[in-house]
Amino acid sequence: MTGDLQQLPHRRFNPLTREWVLVSPHRTQRPWLGKVEGSGAGTTVDYDPSCYLCPGNKRAGGARNPQYTSTFVFGNDYPALLPDTPNVSTNEADLIVAQSEAGMCRVLCYSPRHSLTIPLMSTGEVRQVVDAWCEQFQSLEKFPWVRHIQIFENRGELMGASNPHPHCQIWANALLPNIPATELYSFQEYLKTKKSCLLCDYLKLELAKKVRVVWQNQGFTAIVPYWAVWPFEILVLSNRHLAAMHQLASDERFLLADILKQVTIRYDNLFQTSFPYSMGFHQRPSDGVAHPEWHFHAHYFPPLLRSARVRKYMVGYEMLATPQRDITPELAAEQLANLSDVHYLIAKENS
Ligand SMILES: [Zn+2]
Ligand SMILES: [Zn+2]
Ligand SMILES: [Zn+2]
Repeated sequence: MTGDLQQLPHRRFNPLTREWVLVSPHRTQRPWLGKVEGSGAGTTVDYDPSCYLCPGNKRAGGARNPQYTSTFVFGNDYPALLPDTPNVSTNEADLIVAQSEAGMCRVLCYSPRHSLTIPLMSTGEVRQVVDAWCEQFQSLEKFPWVRHIQIFENRGELMGASNPHPHCQIWANALLPNIPATELYSFQEYLKTKKSCLLCDYLKLELAKKVRVVWQNQGFTAIVPYWAVWPFEILVLSNRHLAAMHQLASDERFLLADILKQVTIRYDNLFQTSFPYSMGFHQRPSDGVAHPEWHFHAHYFPPLLRSARVRKYMVGYEMLATPQRDITPELAAEQLANLSDVHYLIAKENS
Protein backbone atom coordinates (compact mmCIF):
# COMPACT_ATOMS: atom_id res chain seq x y z
CA MET A 1 0.00 0.00 0.00
CA THR A 2 2.64 2.49 1.08
CA GLY A 3 4.73 1.72 -2.00
CA ASP A 4 1.85 2.65 -4.28
CA LEU A 5 1.03 5.81 -2.37
CA GLN A 6 4.59 7.03 -2.87
CA GLN A 7 3.80 7.40 -6.58
CA LEU A 8 0.14 8.41 -6.42
CA PRO A 9 -1.56 11.63 -5.45
CA HIS A 10 -3.03 11.05 -2.01
CA ARG A 11 -4.07 12.83 1.14
CA ARG A 12 -2.60 12.26 4.59
CA PHE A 13 -4.33 12.77 7.94
CA ASN A 14 -2.76 14.83 10.71
CA PRO A 15 -4.01 13.22 13.96
CA LEU A 16 -2.91 16.24 16.03
CA THR A 17 -4.88 18.89 14.14
CA ARG A 18 -7.39 16.48 12.50
CA GLU A 19 -6.79 18.09 9.13
CA TRP A 20 -5.63 16.62 5.83
CA VAL A 21 -2.68 17.46 3.58
CA LEU A 22 -2.64 16.67 -0.14
CA VAL A 23 0.59 15.01 -1.39
CA SER A 24 1.41 14.99 -5.13
CA PRO A 25 4.65 12.97 -5.47
CA HIS A 26 4.20 12.56 -9.23
CA ARG A 27 4.91 16.26 -9.63
CA THR A 28 8.57 15.99 -8.61
CA GLN A 29 11.49 13.99 -9.82
CA ARG A 30 13.89 12.68 -7.21
CA PRO A 31 15.06 15.74 -5.38
CA TRP A 32 17.86 17.87 -6.65
CA LEU A 33 20.54 18.30 -4.10
CA GLY A 34 19.60 21.78 -2.95
CA LYS A 35 20.80 24.53 -5.18
CA VAL A 36 23.33 26.69 -3.36
CA GLU A 37 23.10 30.39 -4.03
CA GLY A 38 25.75 31.48 -1.58
CA SER A 39 23.72 34.34 -0.20
CA GLY A 40 21.65 34.78 2.89
CA ALA A 41 24.51 33.63 5.10
CA GLY A 42 23.21 36.24 7.51
CA THR A 43 25.16 38.71 9.50
CA THR A 44 28.45 37.90 11.19
CA VAL A 45 28.90 40.87 13.52
CA ASP A 46 28.91 40.31 17.30
CA TYR A 47 27.47 43.69 18.16
CA ASP A 48 25.21 46.07 16.22
CA PRO A 49 24.83 49.55 17.73
CA SER A 50 21.41 49.93 16.08
CA CYS A 51 20.02 46.58 17.39
CA TYR A 52 17.44 46.94 20.15
CA LEU A 53 18.33 43.47 21.49
CA CYS A 54 22.13 43.87 21.86
CA PRO A 55 23.51 44.40 25.40
CA GLY A 56 23.68 48.00 26.59
CA ASN A 57 21.49 49.33 23.75
CA LYS A 58 18.37 51.44 24.08
CA ARG A 59 15.08 49.84 23.08
CA ALA A 60 12.25 51.50 21.16
CA GLY A 61 10.26 51.94 24.36
CA GLY A 62 13.15 53.89 25.93
CA ALA A 63 14.44 51.20 28.34
CA ARG A 64 18.12 50.26 28.12
CA ASN A 65 19.27 46.59 27.98
CA PRO A 66 21.73 45.55 30.69
CA GLN A 67 25.20 44.26 29.75
CA TYR A 68 23.85 40.70 29.81
CA THR A 69 26.27 37.82 29.31
CA SER A 70 24.10 34.76 28.57
CA THR A 71 20.28 34.90 28.14
CA PHE A 72 18.13 37.98 28.76
CA VAL A 73 14.33 38.29 29.18
CA PHE A 74 12.21 41.42 29.06
CA GLY A 75 8.55 42.38 28.58
CA ASN A 76 7.80 43.17 24.91
CA ASP A 77 7.71 46.98 24.50
CA TYR A 78 4.75 46.66 22.10
CA PRO A 79 2.88 43.63 23.49
CA ALA A 80 -0.03 42.07 21.57
CA LEU A 81 -1.67 41.17 24.88
CA LEU A 82 -1.99 43.02 28.19
CA PRO A 83 -2.21 41.42 31.66
CA ASP A 84 -4.77 43.84 33.15
CA THR A 85 -7.38 43.48 30.40
CA PRO A 86 -10.89 43.62 31.97
CA ASN A 87 -13.29 40.74 31.37
CA VAL A 88 -15.70 41.84 28.62
CA SER A 89 -17.71 39.74 26.20
CA THR A 90 -20.41 40.10 23.58
CA ASN A 91 -22.73 37.67 21.83
CA GLU A 92 -25.40 38.63 19.33
CA ALA A 93 -27.40 35.62 18.15
CA ASP A 94 -24.22 33.46 18.33
CA LEU A 95 -23.10 35.32 15.19
CA ILE A 96 -21.22 38.32 16.50
CA VAL A 97 -19.20 36.81 19.30
CA ALA A 98 -16.15 38.18 21.11
CA GLN A 99 -14.39 37.92 24.43
CA SER A 100 -11.62 40.05 25.90
CA GLU A 101 -8.32 38.26 26.41
CA ALA A 102 -5.59 38.90 28.98
CA GLY A 103 -1.99 37.96 28.37
CA MET A 104 1.69 38.75 28.65
CA CYS A 105 4.35 38.93 25.94
CA ARG A 106 8.03 38.55 26.70
CA VAL A 107 11.16 38.46 24.58
CA LEU A 108 14.06 36.12 25.36
CA CYS A 109 17.48 36.85 23.83
CA TYR A 110 19.49 33.62 23.40
CA SER A 111 22.92 35.25 23.54
CA PRO A 112 24.55 38.68 23.84
CA ARG A 113 26.19 38.03 20.47
CA HIS A 114 24.18 39.60 17.65
CA SER A 115 24.76 36.85 15.06
CA LEU A 116 25.20 33.73 17.20
CA THR A 117 22.29 31.50 16.16
CA ILE A 118 21.40 28.13 17.74
CA PRO A 119 23.23 25.99 15.13
CA LEU A 120 26.44 27.95 15.82
CA MET A 121 26.12 28.07 19.63
CA SER A 122 27.80 25.43 21.79
CA THR A 123 25.46 22.77 23.21
CA GLY A 124 26.18 24.25 26.67
CA GLU A 125 25.01 27.68 25.48
CA VAL A 126 21.81 26.22 24.00
CA ARG A 127 21.30 24.39 27.31
CA GLN A 128 21.23 27.81 29.05
CA VAL A 129 18.42 28.81 26.66
CA VAL A 130 16.54 25.60 27.57
CA ASP A 131 16.90 26.48 31.26
CA ALA A 132 15.59 30.00 30.58
CA TRP A 133 12.55 28.55 28.71
CA CYS A 134 11.81 26.28 31.72
CA GLU A 135 12.16 29.18 34.19
CA GLN A 136 9.84 31.36 32.10
CA PHE A 137 7.22 28.61 31.78
CA GLN A 138 7.23 27.98 35.51
CA SER A 139 7.17 31.65 36.51
CA LEU A 140 4.40 32.54 34.02
CA GLU A 141 2.12 29.69 35.02
CA LYS A 142 2.17 30.98 38.63
CA PHE A 143 -0.28 33.67 37.43
CA PRO A 144 -3.65 32.13 38.33
CA TRP A 145 -5.33 33.36 35.13
CA VAL A 146 -2.70 31.96 32.72
CA ARG A 147 -3.92 28.85 30.81
CA HIS A 148 -1.43 28.56 27.96
CA ILE A 149 2.21 29.49 27.43
CA GLN A 150 3.51 29.63 23.87
CA ILE A 151 7.27 29.78 23.27
CA PHE A 152 8.02 30.49 19.61
CA GLU A 153 10.78 31.74 17.35
CA ASN A 154 10.56 33.40 13.94
CA ARG A 155 13.89 33.17 12.19
CA GLY A 156 14.74 35.13 9.07
CA GLU A 157 13.16 37.94 7.10
CA LEU A 158 11.04 35.42 5.13
CA MET A 159 9.23 34.61 8.36
CA GLY A 160 8.76 38.25 9.27
CA ALA A 161 11.57 38.45 11.82
CA SER A 162 12.68 42.06 11.72
CA ASN A 163 15.81 41.56 13.79
CA PRO A 164 18.51 38.89 13.15
CA HIS A 165 19.62 38.94 16.82
CA PRO A 166 18.77 35.38 18.01
CA HIS A 167 15.69 35.55 20.19
CA CYS A 168 12.26 34.05 20.76
CA GLN A 169 8.96 35.26 22.09
CA ILE A 170 6.94 33.91 24.98
CA TRP A 171 3.23 34.67 25.10
CA ALA A 172 1.06 33.67 28.06
CA ASN A 173 -2.70 33.65 27.45
CA ALA A 174 -5.79 33.42 29.62
CA LEU A 175 -7.47 31.26 26.95
CA LEU A 176 -6.26 28.21 25.05
CA PRO A 177 -5.37 29.26 21.45
CA ASN A 178 -6.72 27.36 18.38
CA ILE A 179 -3.98 24.84 17.60
CA PRO A 180 -3.15 23.81 21.19
CA ALA A 181 -6.92 23.46 21.81
CA THR A 182 -7.30 21.14 18.80
CA GLU A 183 -4.24 19.12 19.82
CA LEU A 184 -5.56 18.84 23.41
CA TYR A 185 -8.83 17.43 22.08
CA SER A 186 -6.95 14.94 19.86
CA PHE A 187 -4.66 13.79 22.70
CA GLN A 188 -7.68 13.37 25.03
CA GLU A 189 -9.77 11.46 22.48
CA TYR A 190 -6.84 9.17 21.63
CA LEU A 191 -6.21 8.39 25.31
CA LYS A 192 -9.91 7.73 25.87
CA THR A 193 -10.33 5.36 22.94
CA LYS A 194 -6.88 3.68 22.70
CA LYS A 195 -5.80 3.92 26.35
CA SER A 196 -2.40 5.24 25.33
CA CYS A 197 -0.60 8.38 24.16
CA LEU A 198 -0.98 9.54 20.56
CA LEU A 199 2.62 10.68 20.17
CA CYS A 200 4.18 7.76 22.13
CA ASP A 201 2.39 5.40 19.72
CA TYR A 202 3.35 7.50 16.69
CA LEU A 203 7.00 7.61 17.79
CA LYS A 204 7.02 3.80 18.09
CA LEU A 205 5.75 3.50 14.49
CA GLU A 206 8.34 5.96 13.18
CA LEU A 207 11.21 4.22 15.01
CA ALA A 208 10.13 0.88 13.56
CA LYS A 209 9.95 2.26 10.00
CA LYS A 210 12.97 4.58 10.20
CA VAL A 211 12.12 6.35 6.89
CA ARG A 212 11.21 9.77 8.29
CA VAL A 213 13.72 10.02 11.16
CA VAL A 214 16.18 12.89 10.62
CA TRP A 215 18.17 12.68 13.82
CA GLN A 216 17.93 10.99 17.18
CA ASN A 217 19.68 11.10 20.54
CA GLN A 218 18.91 9.30 23.80
CA GLY A 219 16.27 11.82 24.82
CA PHE A 220 14.70 13.09 21.59
CA THR A 221 13.77 12.19 18.03
CA ALA A 222 13.43 14.59 15.08
CA ILE A 223 11.21 13.40 12.24
CA VAL A 224 9.56 14.81 9.15
CA PRO A 225 6.02 13.85 10.18
CA TYR A 226 3.96 11.67 7.84
CA TRP A 227 1.43 14.52 7.51
CA ALA A 228 3.98 17.36 7.07
CA VAL A 229 2.65 20.37 5.14
CA TRP A 230 5.85 22.41 4.77
CA PRO A 231 8.55 20.85 2.52
CA PHE A 232 11.07 20.34 5.34
CA GLU A 233 8.77 20.47 8.34
CA ILE A 234 10.14 18.73 11.45
CA LEU A 235 8.48 17.40 14.61
CA VAL A 236 10.79 16.99 17.62
CA LEU A 237 9.47 14.50 20.19
CA SER A 238 10.72 13.65 23.65
CA ASN A 239 11.41 9.90 23.74
CA ARG A 240 9.95 9.79 27.25
CA HIS A 241 6.29 10.61 27.87
CA LEU A 242 6.10 13.97 29.65
CA ALA A 243 3.90 17.02 29.27
CA ALA A 244 6.13 20.05 29.79
CA MET A 245 9.75 21.03 29.33
CA HIS A 246 10.52 21.70 33.01
CA GLN A 247 9.86 18.02 33.75
CA LEU A 248 13.02 17.13 31.81
CA ALA A 249 15.90 15.83 33.94
CA SER A 250 19.21 17.69 33.79
CA ASP A 251 20.75 15.32 31.22
CA GLU A 252 17.57 15.48 29.13
CA ARG A 253 17.79 19.28 28.97
CA PHE A 254 21.23 18.86 27.48
CA LEU A 255 19.83 16.34 24.98
CA LEU A 256 17.08 18.80 24.00
CA ALA A 257 19.77 21.44 23.39
CA ASP A 258 21.65 18.88 21.29
CA ILE A 259 18.70 17.97 19.08
CA LEU A 260 17.75 21.63 18.47
CA LYS A 261 21.32 22.26 17.40
CA GLN A 262 21.38 19.14 15.17
CA VAL A 263 18.11 20.07 13.47
CA THR A 264 19.13 23.66 12.76
CA ILE A 265 22.63 22.69 11.54
CA ARG A 266 20.98 20.41 8.95
CA TYR A 267 18.55 23.14 8.00
CA ASP A 268 21.40 25.64 7.44
CA ASN A 269 23.43 23.02 5.54
CA LEU A 270 20.52 22.12 3.20
CA PHE A 271 20.78 25.27 1.08
CA GLN A 272 23.91 26.72 2.75
CA THR A 273 21.96 29.62 4.10
CA SER A 274 20.68 30.89 7.42
CA PHE A 275 17.51 28.75 7.05
CA PRO A 276 14.32 30.62 7.92
CA TYR A 277 11.58 28.99 10.00
CA SER A 278 8.93 29.43 12.60
CA MET A 279 9.33 26.99 15.46
CA GLY A 280 7.73 26.54 18.83
CA PHE A 281 6.99 24.15 21.67
CA HIS A 282 3.64 22.62 22.50
CA GLN A 283 3.41 21.99 26.22
CA ARG A 284 0.38 20.99 28.28
CA PRO A 285 -2.11 23.73 29.19
CA SER A 286 -1.32 25.69 32.38
CA ASP A 287 -4.80 25.27 33.82
CA GLY A 288 -3.78 23.56 37.06
CA VAL A 289 -5.25 20.22 35.92
CA ALA A 290 -3.19 17.04 35.35
CA HIS A 291 -2.68 16.33 31.64
CA PRO A 292 -1.68 12.65 31.34
CA GLU A 293 -2.69 12.73 27.64
CA TRP A 294 -0.24 15.46 26.58
CA HIS A 295 3.15 14.67 25.00
CA PHE A 296 5.75 17.48 24.93
CA HIS A 297 6.95 18.31 21.40
CA ALA A 298 8.27 21.05 19.12
CA HIS A 299 7.27 21.97 15.55
CA TYR A 300 9.54 23.52 12.91
CA PHE A 301 7.73 25.09 9.94
CA PRO A 302 10.29 26.30 7.35
CA PRO A 303 9.09 27.89 4.08
CA LEU A 304 12.04 27.07 1.77
CA LEU A 305 11.42 24.58 -1.02
CA ARG A 306 14.27 24.28 -3.49
CA SER A 307 16.98 26.83 -2.70
CA ALA A 308 17.77 29.78 -0.46
CA ARG A 309 15.44 31.86 -2.64
CA VAL A 310 12.65 29.54 -3.75
CA ARG A 311 9.96 29.29 -1.11
CA LYS A 312 6.66 27.49 -0.82
CA TYR A 313 3.57 29.66 -0.92
CA MET A 314 0.31 28.78 0.73
CA VAL A 315 -2.07 30.23 -1.85
CA GLY A 316 -4.89 29.22 -4.17
CA TYR A 317 -6.01 25.67 -3.41
CA GLU A 318 -4.31 25.84 0.00
CA MET A 319 -6.11 28.99 1.08
CA LEU A 320 -9.41 27.72 -0.24
CA ALA A 321 -9.32 23.97 0.26
CA THR A 322 -6.41 21.93 1.69
CA PRO A 323 -2.63 22.36 1.96
CA GLN A 324 -0.74 20.52 -0.78
CA ARG A 325 2.88 19.40 -1.21
CA ASP A 326 4.93 17.78 -3.99
CA ILE A 327 8.14 16.38 -2.44
CA THR A 328 7.13 13.57 -0.10
CA PRO A 329 8.00 13.73 3.62
CA GLU A 330 10.06 10.54 3.13
CA LEU A 331 12.33 12.20 0.55
CA ALA A 332 12.61 15.36 2.64
CA ALA A 333 13.64 13.30 5.68
CA GLU A 334 16.21 11.36 3.64
CA GLN A 335 17.72 14.58 2.32
CA LEU A 336 17.97 16.14 5.78
CA ALA A 337 19.30 12.96 7.41
CA ASN A 338 22.09 12.67 4.82
CA LEU A 339 23.46 16.15 5.50
CA SER A 340 26.61 16.72 7.53
CA ASP A 341 26.30 17.43 11.26
CA VAL A 342 29.06 20.05 10.90
CA HIS A 343 27.71 23.51 10.09
CA TYR A 344 28.80 24.61 6.61
CA LEU A 345 30.37 27.83 7.93
CA ILE A 346 32.49 25.85 10.43
CA ALA A 347 33.41 23.36 7.68
CA LYS A 348 34.52 26.26 5.45
CA GLU A 349 36.63 27.75 8.26
CA ASN A 350 38.34 24.39 8.85
CA SER A 351 39.06 23.63 5.21
ZN1 LIG B 1 21.77 42.52 18.41
ZN1 LIG C 1 3.48 10.16 25.06
ZN1 LIG D 1 1.79 20.43 18.41
